[in-house]
Amino acid sequence: MCKDCPRFCQVDRKISSGYCGAKNKIVVSKIIENFMWEEPCITGDKGTLAIFFAGCNLKCKYCQNYKISNSLQGEEYSPEEFAKYLNRFDYSKYNTLEFISPTHFTSLLIETFKKFKCSIPVVWNSGGYENVEKIKEISAFVDIFLPDFKYSDNKLAEKFSLVNNYCEISLQAIKEMSLLKKNIIEKGVMRQGVLIRHLILPGYIKNSYNVLDLIKNNIPNPIISIMGQFTPINDSISRTLSPLENKAVLEHAQKIGLNNGYFQDLASAKKDYIPKF
Ligand code: SF4
Repeated sequence: MCKDCPRFCQVDRKISSGYCGAKNKIVVSKIIENFMWEEPCITGDKGTLAIFFAGCNLKCKYCQNYKISNSLQGEEYSPEEFAKYLNRFDYSKYNTLEFISPTHFTSLLIETFKKFKCSIPVVWNSGGYENVEKIKEISAFVDIFLPDFKYSDNKLAEKFSLVNNYCEISLQAIKEMSLLKKNIIEKGVMRQGVLIRHLILPGYIKNSYNVLDLIKNNIPNPIISIMGQFTPINDSISRTLSPLENKAVLEHAQKIGLNNGYFQDLASAKKDYIPKF
């Protein structure tokens, strides 16, 4: 049984695959050096070495990176091969090494880290739907957790991400991340910690209010990033966020005292903000 994520698919990935479609090889869709399209505390002035893994354990219907989240095409590596590949980079050129959508490869990446030591902070950028036991294991190698907290409403999670327990499972995972990695920020750059992201879904601002309330009530001194950049890619949600919706969510964050972090300008809500794959 695969335990890399809380779907716990009844599969042996050496011979078969589950919801995410991944087997026993790491699949990398794209690598972007000096990637700057993340929060400034992650990119610093040199950017991140961004590794986009193919596939996803959530596959949200509105996914902004749908071209890679819905496909398992890319370069395939065993953990040994991937460690060798990562060892080739000059890490003085980047602020962080960022793994984007890595959850469905957690066990293979733990094996990779046993053969690869990174000299800069490693960022685990995930959809938030994580198995707490695996988070504990990977935390030995990861410095910064960058989870989404997408849904407070499991009906929405079911509708868009085919999972009926996202809220409680992700909250538990983020709580664990916060216990494991206290925030350390030097000159505006995160060296260790947790940055919680929330993408506001157009038409569903109550979901956002409740996500923010849950963060406020469960995570001590959280650093958050509220994103208003939603770009429709199909009919699942077919419009961008209105300025009024964005304002309402940001005001709610302020009202409940969540003011440490990033609050996105709606000017970035366009397709060319999404990396091209
Ligand atoms: S990582 Fe993939 S195979 Fe494993 S439990 Fe999650 S969805 Fe299923």
